[in-house]
This record gives sequence, C-alpha cells and structure tokens, in this order.
Amino acid sequence: MIITKKKPLKELLTYIKKGEKVFLIGCGECSTTCKTGGEEEVLALKKELEKEGIKIAGWALPKAPCIAAQIKTEFARHLKEIKEADSMLVLACGLGAQSVRENDRFAKVVHIACDTMFIGEVDKEGIFKERCSACGECVLELTGGICPITLCAKGLLNGPCGGVSKGKCEADRDRDCAWVLIYNELKRQGRLDDFKKIQPPMDHSKMNKPRQLKLSAANTIPS
Ligand code: SF4
Ligand code: SF4
Repeated sequence: MIITKKKPLKELLTYIKKGEKVFLIGCGECSTTCKTGGEEEVLALKKELEKEGIKIAGWALPKAPCIAAQIKTEFARHLKEIKEADSMLVLACGLGAQSVRENDRFAKVVHIACDTMFIGEVDKEGIFKERCSACGECVLELTGGICPITLCAKGLLNGPCGGVSKGKCEADRDRDCAWVLIYNELKRQGRLDDFKKIQPPMDHSKMNKPRQLKLSAANTIPS
C-alpha cells in the first residue's frame, strides 16, 4: 500500500486561486485506507474549499485496482464536469496525480492534496509502518522476511553494526535493531545458516530512476 498524508488546507489554498473551478479526484484504494482520499475526505475537502470561495466542478473516486488503472474510465464518466473545470485536485499518491496529468486530454492544471510517504502496511493499532523500499533486488528470502534495507537505519546487508545495544538501534534507542529481529526470526525458523551467509553489495543500478519494466519481462521467470 502507498501511504499518504494530507497537505494542510492552508497549503492547498496557495495552489488554488479564488474563483478557480476545481474537479476533485480521490482514490478508492490506498488513500481511502489512509483516510486521505476516500469519499469522506473528498466531501470534507469539497466543503472546506467551497467555504473559501472555490468552486467545485464535481468529484470522482476511482476504485480498484488503483487510480492509475481506473482514471481513463473516470474521465469518460465525468467528461462534462472535467471540461468545465479550470484544474483538478488529486487526493491520492504521487503516482495517482501523475496518472491524472498523463491521461487528461484537456491538459488541465493538476494540484496535489497529499504528500506521499512510503510503501507500508497498517498494523492493528492503525499505525502505518514502512516495510519496503522497492530496491529491485529483494533479500527477504535470506533475512527471515524482514527487510534490512528499510528497517535498518543504515540499510546494512550484513549486520548488525557495532552500535546495537540491548537489541536496540543506535540511531533510535526506542527501535529494535533490524538485524537482531532478523537473527531472532531466522533462529525461530531454524535457518541460522542463512544469517552467516555474507551478502554481496547491492547492485544500485537497479535503483536508477526512473525505473520501468515491460509487462512481458515482468511475467517471465529469469533462468
Ligand atoms: S529487500 Fe526490502 S526493499 Fe528490497 S524489495 Fe525486498 S522488502 Fe523491498
Ligand atoms: S543498530 Fe541495527 S538497525 Fe541500527 S544501524 Fe546498526 S545494524 Fe542497523
């Protein structure tokens, strides 16, 4: 899931001019879970903006699997309202906002209402936690399913470093050292041999941006 947080209304009001007619686009998936772009948030923001004298041309809420995949259908459904709008305000992640811009044949100005934070999951207390940095070279198989690139403050592939103390990370003593977690998990799984394997340096060229992958290549299992 892509984790987002709302930008303050004050900031949005620096983007949108008084009298501007705006079409709102939420997201029925990640941003609904994050409470940044679900129906409730879209309608609440609509009300706030109207109070500030901003006209709302309409709103849409693309659903599964993702705003990026549904945006063309939503554009077709709301063609008239979008045509009448001066701009679009996207309550979704950066990917969603860019999909809106790339697929809008009227080339409207696209404003963004959220900050995209990370790829994460939500725990039972409703806290979003970062779990993957999309490194392109996953090592979870050897680390008991715990990501050292994301959970270790130094992103070490062969840890722990000398700063670990009582199982806690030197960068934040309230946080467990990722490599202690990895050790404990591999021990629990009876796979401590994996802990002793030295990992070669990462191929950082796999993180050269912008990355792209052809669907046919993605579906082929390399030999
Ligand atoms: S190693 Fe970590 S950052 Fe890399 S793909 Fe796996 S989970 Fe994501
Ligand atoms: S203490 Fe552990 S989590 Fe923190 S930087 Fe060192 S190896 Fe990484």
